[in-house]
Amino acid sequence: MKILVINTGSSSIKFKLFELPQEQELLGGTVEKIGEKKGSMRYMLTTPTGEKIEEQMEEAFTDYRSGLHKIAEVLFKREYGLLNNPEDIQVVGHRVVHGGERFSQPVRINDQVLQQIEALVPLAPLHNPPNLEGIKVSYEIFPAAQQMAVFDTAFHQTLPSFAYRYAIPHHFYEKHQVRVYGMHGTSHQYVAQQAAHYLERPLQNLHLITVHLGNGCSMTAIKEGKSFDTSMGFSPLAGLVMGTRSGDIDPAVIFYMGRRLQMSMDEIDQTLNKQSGLKGLAHSNDLRDIIQREAEGEQEAKQALELYTYRIKKYLGAYYAALGKVDAIIFTAGVGENSPLIRARSCAGLERLGILIDPAKNAAKTTTIREIQQPNSAVKILVIPTNEELAIAREAYELVQTKQSD
Ligand code: AMP
Repeated sequence: MKILVINTGSSSIKFKLFELPQEQELLGGTVEKIGEKKGSMRYMLTTPTGEKIEEQMEEAFTDYRSGLHKIAEVLFKREYGLLNNPEDIQVVGHRVVHGGERFSQPVRINDQVLQQIEALVPLAPLHNPPNLEGIKVSYEIFPAAQQMAVFDTAFHQTLPSFAYRYAIPHHFYEKHQVRVYGMHGTSHQYVAQQAAHYLERPLQNLHLITVHLGNGCSMTAIKEGKSFDTSMGFSPLAGLVMGTRSGDIDPAVIFYMGRRLQMSMDEIDQTLNKQSGLKGLAHSNDLRDIIQREAEGEQEAKQALELYTYRIKKYLGAYYAALGKVDAIIFTAGVGENSPLIRARSCAGLERLGILIDPAKNAAKTTTIREIQQPNSAVKILVIPTNEELAIAREAYELVQTKQSD
């Protein structure tokens, strides 16, 4: 069965085409800088004859619609031999960022589900609208396919109330849905499943801390296979220091910015979401650049890395306490998978908790799952490549199978 996965971000579209149940990736790519003067598209594919093709092009995309139509063009390109007609795609899996309390599982999309995702727009104003647009255009291009939504918040719906409630008057939760939702759920769940498989232990017996460090960063405490606490909150702004987001901050700073510094709500929002984190501290949201600058002796870069890794370490300690015991810590995503330095510094000084990184194993470069702890480390430390699109394809496939056997 051919499953297309569409992940519309706040200015990009990631897409992958899989053959399931073989989990073969036929095509994968990204459309970037949607709405900007200069956009781009890149993709890699394997033709039915086994030929590998890589393409990259500059092209401006005025909106998501034009980006999605360009993806369809690639899918139907005759010489690639991927698809002959729209009916060849049986399922389209969509990443939807916010499922609120309504969605704790993937669902098949119908008019009612569309309305519910629309109703959640106030909770995710930057993310749910492009997700909805992706779904609508995909209905037009693949009218016969089943459209499935997989929610980034769903995995965290198992949080206990003492972890998801804020200590503010009840009505903010009861009437206005103000609570912790958490994000990156598809990635946290995927790497947890991969870890269980790798460790040959049932996921429901495992206590894990998953550390997703990409441009957005979050950590999750997983108790007996279920999300128990997570560092993002009502929005993706909470928790760790990220590429451009501040992470945890005293809310009084916001009053101060507003009252004393006369900043508008939009300016504050923009500052904390787009101008903060590594960008705010070191003028770049690319960690490779900051690591390089620190090596050259730059103080600003050093300080940014200190804040970044100290925050991770604090959450490791907090989640250790929340879980009581930890079988494994899992590092994933762009930074988590590729930066030995960040992994080492985040775990440094936690030897008394049984967390001991092995420097040589940590420095080794592979693209598969690997262990990087010392033999006497009580806690396993794993590096696991995330694959949100594959996770979405799997979920969508399972949903189709259960629907067919209903
Ligand atoms: P993602 O959002 O998962 O694509 O991750 C993007 C982030 O990963 C960017 O901040 C990159 O600088 C960072 N990254 C990618 N490769 C490396 C690396 N080798 N060392 C440090 N950071 C990296």
